[in-house]
Amino acid sequence: MSVTSHATKFAAPRTDAAGRIALIGLTLPEMIAALEEHGLPKFRAKQVWHWVYHRGVTDFEAMTNLPRDLRDTLIEKFSIERPGVMTEQKSTDGTMKWLLVMADGQQIEMVFIPESDRGTLCVSSQVGCTLTCRFCHTGTQPLVRNLGPHEILQQIMYARDVLGEWPVAGEKKDANQGRDLTNIVLMGMGEPLYNYANVAKAMQICMDEEGLGISKRRITLSTSGVVPQIVQCGEELNVNLAISLHAPNDAVRSEIMPINNKYPLADLLDACRNYPGLSDNRRITFEYVMLKDVNDSDDQARELAQLLRGIPCKVNLIPFNPWPNSPYECSSGNRIHAFARILNGEGFDAPIRKTRGQDILAACGQLKSESQRAKPTT
Ligand code: SAH
Ligand code: SF4
Repeated sequence: MSVTSHATKFAAPRTDAAGRIALIGLTLPEMIAALEEHGLPKFRAKQVWHWVYHRGVTDFEAMTNLPRDLRDTLIEKFSIERPGVMTEQKSTDGTMKWLLVMADGQQIEMVFIPESDRGTLCVSSQVGCTLTCRFCHTGTQPLVRNLGPHEILQQIMYARDVLGEWPVAGEKKDANQGRDLTNIVLMGMGEPLYNYANVAKAMQICMDEEGLGISKRRITLSTSGVVPQIVQCGEELNVNLAISLHAPNDAVRSEIMPINNKYPLADLLDACRNYPGLSDNRRITFEYVMLKDVNDSDDQARELAQLLRGIPCKVNLIPFNPWPNSPYECSSGNRIHAFARILNGEGFDAPIRKTRGQDILAACGQLKSESQRAKPTT
């Protein structure tokens, strides 16, 4: 067996049951190293990278600019995987939801929301969540495990398969014209910043022009407020940031989001103010779920405006989506409009988010899979 100079630099590649090395999830240097092990030169690895990530092929036979013997080596030694699909549901409003199954049997949900001017894919980052925000269905499912970079990428790649959205030969890079899937939001199951390394690796491949070619301006990461990784994410990825704020002060926020005890509002908003690249054209989104008699009074709207003053931002008001046995009710339509009007009067954009896919439990905070942590063996 040959020993390469890369041996200490990279983790051992994943292999499937047949011992073939899985390509999805590898960065370009990792792919170069993996192919080098089998005597393939760097320029061939670059061609394979392009076929896999940019053109989305799942069959080595389709890599038509590679010689026959090379394709045979690839077929024997490597694999290009997609997740398994348990169910696909379509809402009356066009929203689609998939229950995807990973190689180890764990399940996650992914949602696609088509709108007139864009199509947004809501991607999961963990199976379950360590946090226990009281209004969130995912929060009732303990963390089973983090998703790997390949599993985060596979969601997006599978969506492109289903929607028929891979670029064709010679198409302009980052071509957006006529695409259904234009935006990615890391807003599915899990807290992306508690799985930062894997999310970052996946997003770097996603943003690479020769990779999936989705620009950072079309990617939004939503976090409950993991302050140290917000700073790191700003420096390294600089994707759009959404903060699950949901309260105008520490008392209310700590009650509904226990993470606030660890990273209180002053620290969270400092990290937001310092997020690189903010301007009137590139604002932070603060998510604010409307909970009846908890965070929805006129005074709280004014307090919120005071809190966010000076930060280039908008506030997304999200009608609370109920789930079985959820402990809250959604504020009334009138209350939500009154809250929005106060924020508008204070100079903030505060759109009320249209609830999508509620009939198939695909709306914000409704995602949950049946995956459970394996019982410890004795
Ligand atoms: N963990 C990350 C991303 C996933 S949650 C985060 O918390 O930001 C995606 C969004 O849905 C968050 O803004 C979350 O606060 C919101 N959400 C959770 N439960 C909800 C519910 N029942 N109704 C409406 N929005 C909800
Ligand atoms: Fe986890 Fe986000 Fe749900 Fe909170 S809102 S429990 S951080 S998924």
